[in-house]
Order: sequence, then structure tokens, then C-alpha cells
Amino acid sequence: MQRTLIRDLGANVGKKVCISGWVNVRRDHGKMVFFDFRDRSGFVQGVVLPGSMAMEVAKDTRNEYVVRVEGTVNRRPEKNIQADYQNGDIELEIHAIEILNPSDAMPFDILGNTSGIDEAVRAEYRYLDLRSKRMQKNMRIRSEFVRRCREYLFSKDFVEIETPLLTESTPEGSRDFVVPSRLHPGKFYALPQSPQQYKQLLMTAGFEQYFQIARAIRDEDLRADRGFEHTQLDLEMSFITRDEVMAAIEDMVTTVIESMGYTIKEKPFPRISYKDAMEKYGADKFDLRTPEEKEKGILAYAWVVDFPFFEKDDEGKWTFTHNPFSMPIPEHLDWLMRGEHIGDIYATQYDLVCNGFETGGGSIRAHKPEILEAVYRILGFSTDELTERVGHMLKAFRYGTPPHGGIALGIEGSVMNLTGETMLREVQAFPMTRGGQTAVMKAPKSLTDKQLKELGLKIEKK
Ligand code: ASP
Repeated sequence: MQRTLIRDLGANVGKKVCISGWVNVRRDHGKMVFFDFRDRSGFVQGVVLPGSMAMEVAKDTRNEYVVRVEGTVNRRPEKNIQADYQNGDIELEIHAIEILNPSDAMPFDILGNTSGIDEAVRAEYRYLDLRSKRMQKNMRIRSEFVRRCREYLFSKDFVEIETPLLTESTPEGSRDFVVPSRLHPGKFYALPQSPQQYKQLLMTAGFEQYFQIARAIRDEDLRADRGFEHTQLDLEMSFITRDEVMAAIEDMVTTVIESMGYTIKEKPFPRISYKDAMEKYGADKFDLRTPEEKEKGILAYAWVVDFPFFEKDDEGKWTFTHNPFSMPIPEHLDWLMRGEHIGDIYATQYDLVCNGFETGGGSIRAHKPEILEAVYRILGFSTDELTERVGHMLKAFRYGTPPHGGIALGIEGSVMNLTGETMLREVQAFPMTRGGQTAVMKAPKSLTDKQLKELGLKIEKK
């Protein structure tokens, strides 16, 4: 008999069916055994009646066993109907159970909310943690959000293009993760902190509207809301102004979010300058919702604009606040080119804030070599350093690069807002622990002597 998905059982009352899935819960009442079965589509109650051929196997079956079950779909007696539950009005009268694979007892309770379970234990058994209802929901909402963004962008003539993971450093204000090269001993690739330079080069290449669901890898100090890896919806557009990029993103976010059934507090999204945000909220991320709106799961988006381009670092040297590839606002271009009023120059940066989190950020970019060069001069680069660091961009900008700008939307931040989660790891499938250990597997690990030799590396013994 062919498998029926649990969500379709309601349409099969009175019929014999076969389901496959997991034993969510087994309740042994002696003469009768009750089950809740689970598959990807939902839950259903099953019962093994006295005298059933399935009784012996039912007695041996435990929670989380993988089973194939044959039975008849019956309507429950009126008094047993659970109106609030999926399939609360039916149950499966079980004729046969085949155990496809038994399971050891769960190392922790996966029937409830697992967020309170010890982080290391959850990480070790992440595949079980992911079975829990909340984690299933979070991952499915994430998938749906990404799917709808993709569909929206395809409908607007964007091209999806992947860019390399083994590459040269792109500065986003973090340390790089590096990968040693076997072919070029002593040399290293950097994992991308973002696809920033490649997406701009795709504008030079004439694609005009690009996006990718990109992994960004940054060696940051780990915190609850930050890991080494995150995913961003990265996009770039040619021949647009700052207001046009912001409007395009706003339309995408609104279309996607509302089609998923969520309510947005204010449209168009309010705009506030960085200076006003700092004065009003003491931060450039803020939550505009009232307590009632929080309860209702409403999403309050806002744009923050007019960020200073540069700030002084700990050593008193100028550094960029967001992105060295940005254009200043048109009124401040002269200052940038002359290296004057550096602290007063505003970037064309726009950050998207939602419910207290930064969920995206982007800018109009420098598309002429002399503008990017002026930025790097302010950052203190010599001609040689400049060529070494961004010579390839300066060169590309000499070959008809159109004016362009873009943004990256954090997928995790967005999904946290949709699910009400406050930790990044609750919306990633296999997040690292706060100590930087991978889930399930045991990285980082030592290399064998053979690997070290091939890579031309020596590890200093501490
Ligand atoms: N490169 C920036 C980031 O990864 C986003 C952008 O400016 O498009 O945060």
C-alpha cells in the first residue's frame, strides 16, 4: 500500500491507509496502546485495540522509533474530539506496525521547548533537537521566507549568481577566516566576510540586478546573537539612486512578509537619521513597537540613514564605519575627494532595523576609481598598499562600471523577527556553540602530520 501523509488522513475516513513516520509518544494502557505518530506533515493519534494482531509489536515500540503503520481511519466519538488539534477528530485504528528502525532513548526531552537544554548537549544531538516542534517550525519559516524572497526577485528580473568562498579578504570590519593553500605553501585564501567586491564586479559585468543567498564568514567574538557564519540575502542593482534601492527593498520585504500573514506597523517604513536615532534611542537599532504590538507579533521596520562614513579607531586613525566601498552623499563628495571634514562626511549607507535588530544594510557604491582611492587614502593606505588591497577594483572601475548600489538582508535576523526567537542559533540548522565548536561534528580539529607537511605548516607547541 502506498504511503499517505498524515495531513491527508482526514480525507480518508473509513479507508485503509498506510503511514510512515516516528512515534511521537506511546501510551500503554494495558489492554490498549495509544500512539501519537508524526511525519513531516503533522500528527495523528493511533490506537491498538484489544486482540489486535499489532499488539505484540505495539508493546515493543518506543518513542522515536521509525515505523510503518497500517490501519483504518476512523472518526472519533463526539466526546473524544479535540477541536484544537490537527486530526483531532480522527484516529487511526492500527492493524499492523512495522518497525523500520528502533531508537535509543532521547538524551533530552524533545517534546517541549528545547531552548533551556544545555547548549553542548543540544549541539551534540542537534539532529534530535531539530525534531522538536519549535525547531521544525523555525526552519520551515526560514525556508519559506527565503523562497518568497527568491520568487519576488526573479519576478523583478534579478539574476541569481554564486560567488567564490575561497577568495581574497573583503573587509567588513571583522577578522578573516583563512584557508591554507596546498599548491602555494605559505599562502592563504580568506573566506568571504561578504560578497561585496564580487557583486560590484557583477555590475561591471553588466548583470544590472544580481542576488544570492550568500554565506558570510567572520571571525568575530562570539555572542548570543552572533556566530562565525551567517546567511545574507545579498543584492546589487545598477543605475539606481539610494531612494530607489530602499524602495525596492521595502517593496520586497513588504510583499514577502505580508504574504506570510504578518502585519507591518508602519508603511512606508519610517526613516530616521543616525544622529536622531542616537539622540532618541541611544542606539542605531531600536524597537518601535508598543507592548501590545509585541504581543501580536507585529513587525516595526525603520530605515536609518546619514551615517558618518569614517570614525577614529582606538589608535586615533580613521576607519570606515560600515563599508569602504560606499559613496558619500552627493553633497559631501567634494570633502571626500579633498580629504577635508573627514569626520563630517556622511555615507550613502542605509540600515534596515526591525523590532530592535539590525536586519540589513547597504549603500550606493563608489563606481569611479578616484572615489574609492580617496576613501583608501583617508584610511591611510600608501599607493602600494592601495594597489595590493583594491587594485583589482580600481582597474575594473576603469572599464565602464555603471553607478550601482545594493544591500544585504540578514536571513537569521529576519527569521528571528518572524519566529519571535532572540538567539541566532534558534534559526540556524547547525549553529556553533558559543565556544566555537561545531554542532554534531568536532571541529575545529588538529591536522595530521601528513596534512601539515603538504600545506607547509608547522604548529608551534605552547
Ligand atoms: N557588504 C555589506 C554587508 O555584508 C552589505 C552591503 O553593503 O551590501 O554587510
